[in-house]
Amino acid sequence: MMANVVAIPTRAARIAALNTRYRHHAAIKVLGDALQDKELGRVAMVSSFGADSVVLLHMLSLVERNTPVLFIDTQMLFPETLIYQSQVASKLGLTDLRTIRANPTAINAADPDGDLHGRDPDACCDLRKTVPLNRALADFDSWITGRKRFQGADRAALEFFEEDPAGPRIKINPLAHWDARDVADYIANNHLPRHPLVAKGYPSIGCQPCTSPVLEGEDPRAGRWRGLDKTECGIHFVNGKMQRIAPAEPVVFTPEEGRPVIVRDAGFGPEDWTGPILELAPEADLDDPNLHYMDAPMIRIAFPSFSDGRGFTLARRLRVAGYKGRLRAQGHVIADQFPMARRSGFDEVEIDFALAKRQPWELWKRSAEVAPSYLNRLGRSA
Ligand code: SF4
Repeated sequence: MMANVVAIPTRAARIAALNTRYRHHAAIKVLGDALQDKELGRVAMVSSFGADSVVLLHMLSLVERNTPVLFIDTQMLFPETLIYQSQVASKLGLTDLRTIRANPTAINAADPDGDLHGRDPDACCDLRKTVPLNRALADFDSWITGRKRFQGADRAALEFFEEDPAGPRIKINPLAHWDARDVADYIANNHLPRHPLVAKGYPSIGCQPCTSPVLEGEDPRAGRWRGLDKTECGIHFVNGKMQRIAPAEPVVFTPEEGRPVIVRDAGFGPEDWTGPILELAPEADLDDPNLHYMDAPMIRIAFPSFSDGRGFTLARRLRVAGYKGRLRAQGHVIADQFPMARRSGFDEVEIDFALAKRQPWELWKRSAEVAPSYLNRLGRSA
């Protein structure tokens, strides 16, 4: 006799069912029910304490104020945001506020002078927002966001529930169908404090270096990364998609003294390259007509110190220019920087025996597992 086979719905099917089930719910009902819905598991709210955040935070305080609230402090925020965050959390009686920050070692290594946002905003967002958040979200099955359809073309088709492209989680957007008027009315009707920068022309508030006021008639998010081809920080989208670096099965390899160790998604490995290598210093000028880099089968970029991030920028420029060969970072790159190296377009990192001993593969692997990839954006696959 054949055993009964029970089909387990895919995440996409579960999300479609959730969207059908909640279709006619009001925002606060979506929020309240979602927090009780076993299908959504452990739920956290992620809040920037920005221009509209108080709406959802207020609803949360009404339905379940003990819900974990993750606040990402990029250490680049407006001082007004930090003050507002503390005032709102206290006023609403939120009991489980968790401030998330990047690992100080990673900051020291990749952005010691705090100017990465000017050189490579994607890498900066990744370092200061996406990686820390993904780490924090590892404890949850679903997370609540304050995103809304009216906030721009990227969000025009937003539903209450959606897949999180960065992981197995489900994203919950109770305010998906609200517009600016709904937000303003809710805040006024409930006498909630507004972020002080809203009155100064900031309808969307992120980090201080990357946020400018918006003129009347502009998209509310026009002041975010103004002048750059960038509309999201990477937490929600990267060019419409966000991919996780999927580490392959680890290879068995024992580093040997005096031999280089090659770090890839699959693990540590020995040197396997026997072809020509074009060596580039981090300050290499890609506009130099004598630098025929496009024909090089492998380019190796030197990292002279852990705090020198110029190699990441150079790698990204190579990929953006269309370089399709093998790209290797060599030298002072630590495990925390591995996701950034991959996102910058590097295929691998070459380290020495001493570093491999100090930072075994488990550290690199852990770092890679929580990081989304920008490889798609660079036209490459993991
Ligand atoms: S918004 Fe700007 S300062 Fe903030 S993390 Fe992104 S690039 Fe860095």
